[in-house]
Amino acid sequence: VTSFTWMITVSLNTNMGVAWHRFLGFPNIWFKRNADGSTALGALQPMTTAGKEIDWEDPAEDAVFGVSQVEQFSWKGILDFSTCTECGRCQSQCPAWNTGKPLSPKLLIMSLRDHAHAKAPYLLAGGGKTMEGEEKASEEQLAGVPAAALAEAERPLIGTAEENGVIDPDVLWSCTTCGACVEQCPVDIEHIDHIVDMRRYQVMIESAFPSEAGTMLKNLEKKGNPWGLAKKQRVEWTKEVDFEVPIVGKDVEDLTEVDYLYWVGCAGALEDRAKKTTKAFAELLHMAGVKFAIMGGEEKCTGDSPRRLGNEPLFQQLGQENVAMLNMAFGEDDEDESTKKPKSAKKIVATCPHCFNTIANEYPQLGGEFEVIHHTQLLQHLIDEGKLIPVTPVDGLIT
Ligand code: SF4
Ligand code: SF4
Repeated sequence: VTSFTWMITVSLNTNMGVAWHRFLGFPNIWFKRNADGSTALGALQPMTTAGKEIDWEDPAEDAVFGVSQVEQFSWKGILDFSTCTECGRCQSQCPAWNTGKPLSPKLLIMSLRDHAHAKAPYLLAGGGKTMEGEEKASEEQLAGVPAAALAEAERPLIGTAEENGVIDPDVLWSCTTCGACVEQCPVDIEHIDHIVDMRRYQVMIESAFPSEAGTMLKNLEKKGNPWGLAKKQRVEWTKEVDFEVPIVGKDVEDLTEVDYLYWVGCAGALEDRAKKTTKAFAELLHMAGVKFAIMGGEEKCTGDSPRRLGNEPLFQQLGQENVAMLNMAFGEDDEDESTKKPKSAKKIVATCPHCFNTIANEYPQLGGEFEVIHHTQLLQHLIDEGKLIPVTPVDGLIT
């Protein structure tokens, strides 16, 4: 009797916040992003409008870029917000929250939930704003909507406290997209997808993003690396080692002649501290007799940062150029009849975790199917095979 009374009470009060997680937890986990049950990490989702992927060659005239109103989230987004148990596991793991930033993934999800529920009577009556900010519903349609719901509908989804916004822009920009919240959530809420969708609107429509990001994005557009350096500088580090580093198109015709393409990445090629890792890793490959080559400087940033900042077109541009270049560097290859994939693996080793994730997990969205391993995996493999013998003992665990 107690349980039934409780269920009836909750059913009659759809805005009873946290109470709903008892019923929504199961469907939310069932409908998680990845059908194989894995956590929604790794690749970001391509941008969609009206449930369809945006065609960047020819975007629809009425395409909606990112999310600026709560009703523009997918139904899965609304289900996510309504499912939060308020357990706080995401918040306790969040590096932004733990370093005093204004972002708490728990409060973010709760704010979106409360806003969606409070605005619901207005939306159900046909309310909503056009891109130009005009009201879609007639006065008659909105006549029976409670004043509180009308007031909620006037709040901007993204706005400061003075603007009575639901999510402060500083909250949005505090997220590192590390994924700890998604990993920890007991009901599989997919925070990052929603945060990035709101960033996409901010960047692409409002051109509103932290000033530090502006210079970086401009450099990526013009020069293909975050510091705006000339492309020939990408291979300068090869002159600082006392062995030959083969370059594709110069020392080797294409990558069929080697076992691995070493993807050095922008930081690894251009930034002093990261260059030390690059040189040390290349030296170890050389010592172990691994046949490898690097790109010749024409390659661009993989596009990881612009994508996570919400600049999807720039990611698409950089990614497509890289995929075309990589496919050419790997040479023509026969396709396997059954799998429709190249017969021989296109192997890439990466020292940069951002490049690793983007090439392995996101480039398949752009037609780039590569087998990517992290440099630590390759080093371990070489040690296991006896091709590298560690000489300095290391005590303890190192991450
Ligand atoms: S992805 Fe963002 S919100 Fe989630 S734990 Fe990392 S920094 Fe926090
Ligand atoms: S871990 Fe999930 S359920 Fe718990 S507070 Fe965070 S978003 Fe809500």
